[in-house]
Amino acid sequence: MGKLALITGASAGIGRATALKLAKDGYNIIVTGRRNDRLELLQAEIKSISNVNVFTAQFDIQQREAVTEFINFLNGEWRDIDVLVNNAGLALGNDAFQNGNLDDWDTMIDTNVKGMMYISKLVSQIMVKRGKGHIVNVTSTASTQVYKDGGIYCASKHAALALSKSMRIDLLPHGIKVSSVSPGAVDTEFSLVRFKGNQQKAESVYEGYTPLNADDIANLISFIVSQPDHVNINDIEVTCVAQANAYYFDKKSGS
Ligand code: NAP
Repeated sequence: MGKLALITGASAGIGRATALKLAKDGYNIIVTGRRNDRLELLQAEIKSISNVNVFTAQFDIQQREAVTEFINFLNGEWRDIDVLVNNAGLALGNDAFQNGNLDDWDTMIDTNVKGMMYISKLVSQIMVKRGKGHIVNVTSTASTQVYKDGGIYCASKHAALALSKSMRIDLLPHGIKVSSVSPGAVDTEFSLVRFKGNQQKAESVYEGYTPLNADDIANLISFIVSQPDHVNINDIEVTCVAQANAYYFDKKSGS
């Protein structure tokens, strides 16, 4: 069937753009997420621009049993996953630690950390058997720095980066590459999700400067997975020109 990439959280944003880019690169694609209508639209779009095979899978990555069921369901060539892009993730709320919403905290940890752990364990077992594979984890500038009122999201991304580095060590003898990409602000549905549908608040995050877009990250992931067999890009942090790190921006007022 040719090369196969599995991208989690592909119903929107970075995951969606990555699925389209890797399909253009010739990968057969498995896309996952909770919104099946979005995944089916993406499947049709990929088919319209390429000749690759596309499989959609709807499940909540927080649910351990659902992740296991999905991986067990894959058979034949659909199990031969060359690239796993761990992208599904979210921030919820923007509260001082002492005022944080416990349900939001659980969802961020269960998605960004535990979901990534569940799927990576199962896919890495497949990769170990095949003696090859590449796992790319979408982390964040928040994986090395913390910012005000974002404590649990930052903690979850610190954990995601730690997992990325530890997977790289444990999978080393098996020839499996592990990379992380840590973006700064990317204009996706991320802020709309964080602010629970408040469009005005979400838009204000990207005002006064030109943020990264989902294609910027997709292109970077495509570059990472297209390196020669003996090359691994370990960890990359990427921001737009107007962003120096997780919290310093050069925003122009009135623009
Ligand atoms: P987005 O547009 O909101 O996309 C998030 C994706 O994750 C969606 O496809 C969503 O699909 C999926 N997802 C969320 N919870 C899920 C769950 N429980 N089960 C399965 N899928 C789930 O945001 P994005 O910016 O593309 O975010 C992608 C990744 O980049 C995240 O890990 C985020 O933390 C990271 N990141 C984003 C930025 C940024 O500024 N945008 C910066 C740094 C890092 P469903 O809702 O359909 O399930």
